[in-house]
Amino acid sequence: MLNIAIDGHVSSGKSSLAHGIANALGIRVLDTGAIYRGLACAYSEKVGDEIVENEVDKFIEDVVVKIEFIDDLQHVFVNNKDYTPFLRLEKTSNMASKISQYPKLREKVLDIQRDFANSYDCVVEGRDIGSHVLPNAQYKFFLTAKAEKRAQRRFDQIKNIPGSPSYQEILDDLLERDYRDEHRAVAPLIKTDDCILIDNTDIYLNQTIEKCVQIVKNGE
Ligand code: C5P
Repeated sequence: MLNIAIDGHVSSGKSSLAHGIANALGIRVLDTGAIYRGLACAYSEKVGDEIVENEVDKFIEDVVVKIEFIDDLQHVFVNNKDYTPFLRLEKTSNMASKISQYPKLREKVLDIQRDFANSYDCVVEGRDIGSHVLPNAQYKFFLTAKAEKRAQRRFDQIKNIPGSPSYQEILDDLLERDYRDEHRAVAPLIKTDDCILIDNTDIYLNQTIEKCVQIVKNGE
């Protein structure tokens, strides 16, 4: 199977890059953050909004996660409920960042990700894909950009939505989530020695996609 790993910071454009590469190559994308988000929603519904390790461990024991593609959109089912409409809520982003710290929950997500990558040629995007989930992926890209630029891009996307957070709130939240990703005990966000580092602070997404597709097509 062809496996392409994309890791990187919060709001660095991983998802757009993953879809751009996958479309150009005619392969699938697995958004692994969506799995953590689905689990955060299900936990919130079943246990509550306070995230405590022993509650997370109990919760994850008998949880069944299913990934399905409906009209090309990845849906996440937890215990047969489709949480897709709730995955992008601010509350979900925050809870997913916290719940993804816990080892037992990560173990469960690990199996789902590896099963998928063993079954399809795909681009898998997340935080620990090249370092931990698919260390033998044929291509590994690490995407980043200055935090202020990432916050500005996110702010521009949502500024017209009533009740959306300010630029400063977005920046603070993004830095907090980056910190958790880089400092968790299990599978933190790291740049592996064999990854291709892309800083897209000053380049457009289509240029980044083109560059990555060329690398894969040329077998570099
Ligand atoms: O990428 P996204 O923001 O959707 O991910 C949601 C949360 O899940 C992130 O805050 C991150 O902490 C966590 N995550 C992770 N490992 C991954 C993908 C996401 O810990 N491979």
